[in-house]
Formats: sequence, C-alpha cells, structure tokens
Amino acid sequence: MSEGEERRRMVRPPTGGDPAGRGGTEKRLKTAFGRTTSQQKWLERQINDPYVLKAKAEGWRSRAAFKLAEIDDRFRLIKRGSKVIDLGCAPGGWVQVALKRGAEKVVGVDLLPVDPIPGADLVEGDFTEPGMGERLLDMLGGAPDLVLSDMAHNTVGHKATDHLRIVALIEIAADFAIDTLKPGGAFVTKNFQGGSAGDVLGRLKAAFTEVKFVKPKASRQDSSEVYLVATGFKGAPR
Ligand code: SAM
Repeated sequence: MSEGEERRRMVRPPTGGDPAGRGGTEKRLKTAFGRTTSQQKWLERQINDPYVLKAKAEGWRSRAAFKLAEIDDRFRLIKRGSKVIDLGCAPGGWVQVALKRGAEKVVGVDLLPVDPIPGADLVEGDFTEPGMGERLLDMLGGAPDLVLSDMAHNTVGHKATDHLRIVALIEIAADFAIDTLKPGGAFVTKNFQGGSAGDVLGRLKAAFTEVKFVKPKASRQDSSEVYLVATGFKGAPR
C-alpha cells in the first residue's frame, strides 16, 4: 500500500522537527487475521512510524507532508502568492503544505478521490490522459510558479515493468513543467535511485539553472526514493 492510500482527515498543521528519534516501544499487531504478509508488515510499519504519528498529531493528511516541508525549507520554493500544480496529490499532504506556506492557488490531480481542502481545486483523474494538463492550467488561471509531482503507482513486482512505469511518470511530469512554468519557476519530482536520470535529467539540466537530488529525512531510509528539485526555470522553449 502506498502513502497515497493514507485516507485520514486531520486538523492541525505541523511545526517541523525530526521525529525519527522518538518512541522506542515498537507495537506489534495482535492478529494478522485476514491480512497478507505484506499488508501485515505495512500496518506494523505504519503504527510504528514516527512521521505517521506526527502527521496524525499535527493534522497533516500524509507523512509525505514532511518531505515537501523539508525540501521547501532548503530551497524556498513556495512563496506568498505562488500558483502551484500538484500531480499525484492524494491524500493531500503536499497541498496542505503549499497552502500553509502561502500559495495563492493550488490545483491538484490524482487517480484517487481527495477530500476537499479549502483553497485548493482538486481533480480526480489520470494526469497522463490527453487534455488533463490544459484542464489543470485553466483551473489555475495562468502559468504555475511551481510544479510538484509525487506521482507513484502501486508496483506490480516485475522490476523492469515497474521501472519503465516510474520513468514514464517522471518524464511526463517534467515535460509538463518545462512547457508550462513561469520563468524562474521550479519543479519537484519523486524519483528513484538507479531510476530515470538519463534523458529527463539532461532536459531538466538544460531548462533549469540548478538540478539537485534530495533525500528528505522523512523519506524512508530503506526505500530508493529520492526527489529531483529543479530551480530557476529559464523559460519555455520556442
Ligand atoms: N504527495 C501526496 C501527499 O502529500 O499526500 C502523496 C502522493 S502518493 C505518494 C502518490 C499518488 O500518485 C497516489 O495517490 C496515486 O494515486 C497518484 N498517481 C499515480 N499515478 C497517477 C496518474 N497517472 N495521475 C494522477 N495521479 C497518479
């Protein structure tokens, strides 16, 4: 199960900090009745994950909120009045962070339904469908200052297939950012160590003044997840 499947409504926004050092009394589920081994493991990891607990306590819809907060602390991507597009936004942690940090408008899309968030326009749909990009831009009412993509699908377990699907999502998000961002804008995408790089990295390096790989503390250390942060968009190609 992915983080995007955390379907919790919470109320208070987080204050930051690294909760990873807290706790120490690991909980075990008493029964695995009706669960597969991987579901059981996922559940045990969730109830023992300090970021999940912190997100719940502070009102963030997902532990992923801490990843964007950390990236933004470092790169100052979200500015007062920013227009933001969030690709793969469910359950809405990144949308909450963008709004909390002063974004004027946030438009998000996800395959899954997302409970409404005041100040955001959220679409249930597939970003890779023809016309979806234009739809998001119309809703935003202009070019974005920031394009975020945390899109990830459930893996099928076949390494080569999973890899190709991940790369395809990164490429389509990167092309969208390059085609639509305002000059000076920024792009953040989920990536995987040993993943994409290649073509898309070259395109990003040509289109932005700086491109960095970042592994936020809130990103599980045992996962190959990293984020690509591209800043200083040079302007759409003509
Ligand atoms: N950043 C989110 C947050 O803070 O709550 C978490 C995103 S979750 C890790 C990844 C999401 O990508 C999933 O909800 C999944 O449904 C979505 N996704 C994957 N492929 C997509 C696609 N083609 N179009 C839209 N959303 C997609």
